[in-house]
Amino acid sequence: MNLHEYQGKQLLNSFGVKIQRGIVADNHKKAVDAAKQLTAETGTGWWVIKAQIHAGGRGKGGGVKLAKSLAEVETISKDIIGMMLKTPQTPAEGKKVNQVLIAEDVYYPGEAEPEEYYMSVLLNRATGRNMIMYSTEGGMDIESVAEKTPHLIFTEEIDPATGILSFQARKVAFNLGLSGKAFKEMTKFVTSLYGAYIGSDASLFEINPVLKTSDDKVLAVDSKVTLDNNALFRHKNYINLRDLREENPIEVEANAVGLNYVDLDGNVGCMVNGAGLAMSTMDLIKQSGGEPANFLDVGGTADAERVEAGFRIILKDPNVKAILVNIFGGIVRCDRVAQGIVDAYTNMGDAIKVPIIVRLQGTNAKEAKELIEASGLDVISVVEFKEAADKVQEVLS
Ligand code: GDP
Ligand code: MN
Repeated sequence: MNLHEYQGKQLLNSFGVKIQRGIVADNHKKAVDAAKQLTAETGTGWWVIKAQIHAGGRGKGGGVKLAKSLAEVETISKDIIGMMLKTPQTPAEGKKVNQVLIAEDVYYPGEAEPEEYYMSVLLNRATGRNMIMYSTEGGMDIESVAEKTPHLIFTEEIDPATGILSFQARKVAFNLGLSGKAFKEMTKFVTSLYGAYIGSDASLFEINPVLKTSDDKVLAVDSKVTLDNNALFRHKNYINLRDLREENPIEVEANAVGLNYVDLDGNVGCMVNGAGLAMSTMDLIKQSGGEPANFLDVGGTADAERVEAGFRIILKDPNVKAILVNIFGGIVRCDRVAQGIVDAYTNMGDAIKVPIIVRLQGTNAKEAKELIEASGLDVISVVEFKEAADKVQEVLS
């Protein structure tokens, strides 16, 4: 689950990580009130107004603007709220901005230039350990730093048995070229950031920039936080951080009916029971010259109701040119699944406009094939994996 910048910052702050303070608003009146409240709390007279969408690169797209008066807070918020913000990370048409974060300007105009660093916490899958990745080259896009000047990116791996050790936090501060108060601030920042990562069961933190202010404070100016969905049951209070408006609408609908569906870019829809079989079915589609349009695991009970729900979800994607159903009848008998497919198909009438290839293997596979063939419906029934691949190739050509 991905969080908005403002939610990520609140989460970090609850673990003691210093942040640029801010208040979220969904209209320009609330934005002005937020600016006033920030001034009362922090004495700030300048603000930064930041579009809240689940995508980075907002600065470049015009989604991060400075305001030097309440009048500017109002006009800038008016402009940003409701806009379709286009950044290198959004779809081509952009993403609608529903709210803005009004934050204190921590760059203190007129004073010494602050320093921007990059810092992330993530799992190194090769070693099975979490690591802190950081760089002096913050504020800009880290991919190009990695490409052009990879020696400016450092990593620090953390032993899960000990957690982050104080010499590691000092090493980070040292490699970032800090000394004095800023050095101490950075060691605190890194230690609390790592604590937040573990404590929230996150799978990714990316703070770009981490800022060293002109008065040597170290704080998070941006946050990208991804939480591990499989650990959400341990954090009941995180559930309301989910913003369904930011998610793929077909996936949201599929999840609501209990289907494990992931939208992809291809042209062949697939409906499979079991995640492993779903993965190999996607490989099979690729080998047949197609591209999978989705991942869909219907789970153990592939009855008429679930099959129909699956068909309806798959067909919402206009790129789907064919559907491959690949079910292994272990606990569930193939003939029952076949009946489910026939019932669903019959029930859906002309909603199905693409060829459907069904491969049923396992208990009562033969009866299942007979049942589908006897139905007279426009469904291609096969038994072997290879046959399924050939049929996909055939209907696509
Ligand atoms: P992103 O573009 O989506 O990554 O959004 P960021 O939160 O990283 O903001 C983009 C850029 O805006 C930052 O790299 C900063 O240079 C700038 N910025 C953010 N907050 C402030 C602020 O308080 N004052 C000033 N002057 N610039 C800021
Ligand atoms: Mn950023």
